[in-house]
Amino acid sequence: MIRTDVIIIGGGATGCGIARDLALRGVHHYLVEKGDFASGATGACHGLLHSGGRYVVTDPEAAKECITENSILRKIAQKCVETTGGLFVRLPGDSKRFRDSFLTRCEEVGIGTEVLSPSKALDLVPGLNPTLEEAIQVPDCSIDPFRLCMLNAYTSRRRGGGILIHHEVKEIIVEKGRCVGIKARERLTAQVKEIRAPIIINAAGAWGDRIARMSGSQVPMTLSKGSLVISNHRLTNMVINRLRPPSDGDIIVPNEAVCLAGTTSVPVEDPDVLDVDASEMDIITSQAGQLIPSFGSTRLIRAYTGVRPLLEATCKDGRSISRGFRIIDHENGMFSILGGKLTTYRLMAEKMVDVIMGQLGLNVPCKTASLPLEGQEELSGYPLSKRLKGIDDIVCECELVSRRDVEHAINSLGIQYVGDIQHRTRLGMGPCQGGFCTYRALGIMQELGRVSTEESLEILKLFLQRRFKGIKPALWGDQLREEQLIESIYLGILNMESKA
Ligand SMILES: Cc1cc2nc3c(=O)[nH]c(=O)nc-3n(C[C@H](O)[C@H](O)[C@H](O)COP(=O)(O)OP(=O)(O)OC[C@H]3O[C@@H](n4cnc5c(N)ncnc54)[C@H](O)[C@@H]3O)c2cc1C
Repeated sequence: MIRTDVIIIGGGATGCGIARDLALRGVHHYLVEKGDFASGATGACHGLLHSGGRYVVTDPEAAKECITENSILRKIAQKCVETTGGLFVRLPGDSKRFRDSFLTRCEEVGIGTEVLSPSKALDLVPGLNPTLEEAIQVPDCSIDPFRLCMLNAYTSRRRGGGILIHHEVKEIIVEKGRCVGIKARERLTAQVKEIRAPIIINAAGAWGDRIARMSGSQVPMTLSKGSLVISNHRLTNMVINRLRPPSDGDIIVPNEAVCLAGTTSVPVEDPDVLDVDASEMDIITSQAGQLIPSFGSTRLIRAYTGVRPLLEATCKDGRSISRGFRIIDHENGMFSILGGKLTTYRLMAEKMVDVIMGQLGLNVPCKTASLPLEGQEELSGYPLSKRLKGIDDIVCECELVSRRDVEHAINSLGIQYVGDIQHRTRLGMGPCQGGFCTYRALGIMQELGRVSTEESLEILKLFLQRRFKGIKPALWGDQLREEQLIESIYLGILNMESKA
């Protein structure tokens, strides 16, 4: 049995941010995550470090939090944030009254804006719809949620925190009406670990109500699914938003070599049963095509979906729910933190840890807003071409990941699954979606003695199934042709057909 002061359930941005904050305030803790880091909404998000513009008219409080955190993260997380800038684009027919409110509210909230003529906007982003009426420039950025989680967890680990990934919390131990610990099952071995602590933080996002119910409590939330589509090219160097009230398919975010377009908002009951519907693909591609016309003819390489853990219990339209966050004291030793945004994860963690410090009778101030994330020195940062420096043996051509990067991830980070390498190095996240590099990475894992032949075949099978789920909604044209080539490599040459 393990003893600690605080258990955090969930290794998304919120959980990892809490772990870093606790570590910097000297509180011992364990973080328990059922998958890899960022395997919930954090890894399925748009990767937009909001300026707050998106919410400024409908939810100014959330917008204010966003702009404050945006400027903090640009300083402390430089290697996770690409300072692309963003444009809110007004197309013919879009409300001028909304545009006026947008500018007024941005000023009130403190979001810097510059109104650009169509020609100035087209100079910045040549692929924009040339019929645009105007664009408003804001400090939106692109952010890498995987790196962000890893770096937050790195500080925790470095300062003695316990981090258990691929461990699913199956039970909350309740004694005399109080939560005193958890039982978590390791994915690979099915071994159950018991961890005891006087305080448990439920940062399980869309799974938060399930966790709360294990202790006899509940958390009021509405689950809203959002889907995203990845294009084969980086069609814009700036974040592009539609200047209108938040709705489907109105944001395109550049992310390394590709672009992410989305999203949708569909109420769901179960965060584990998710698919991208064909209708969502149609909406996203047609709406993105209105902003950047070449989106309609560009190859799409993948679609995915994530679930927003929003605050209210009953609501038909997820978009009208505040993006603010809430901390719930269940008064039994468990605290739940829900709602919010990736952009505001640090603030959420700060507020949560302030409450915990009060519970523990400690008075150590938060330092996360001023200290840069540790471990960034090892990362190349933006742009992608920086990785070309000194690169020798490339394993992933799309994202320029070298054998050295893969070996480093395997050796020093305790990797068990090929997906974990992807999250840490971006291997397989580019146009071929791992088709040409995953078997190479698995080969390296095997050479280094991390997996046996049988295990590597099993891992490859799981990878192929997960990969196919992601690319299936985008299978037409050139993407379908490339998929047939990849299928022949895996099923024909590597004989995976008999294994699948
Ligand atoms: C489609 C979409 C697009 C978005 N785009 C943006 C954006 O561009 N910018 C932005 O700022 N925000 C965005 N958001 C919101 C943002 O992603 C979330 O608010 C944020 O990532 C939530 O982080 P979290 O850590 O609270 O939850 P999650 O990331 O969901 O983390 C919860 C974790 O708990 C784990 N867990 C669950 N049950 C258990 C268990 N029993 N045992 C152990 N672990 C468990 C899960 O595996 C998961 O990793 C988007 C959300 C969606 C869905």
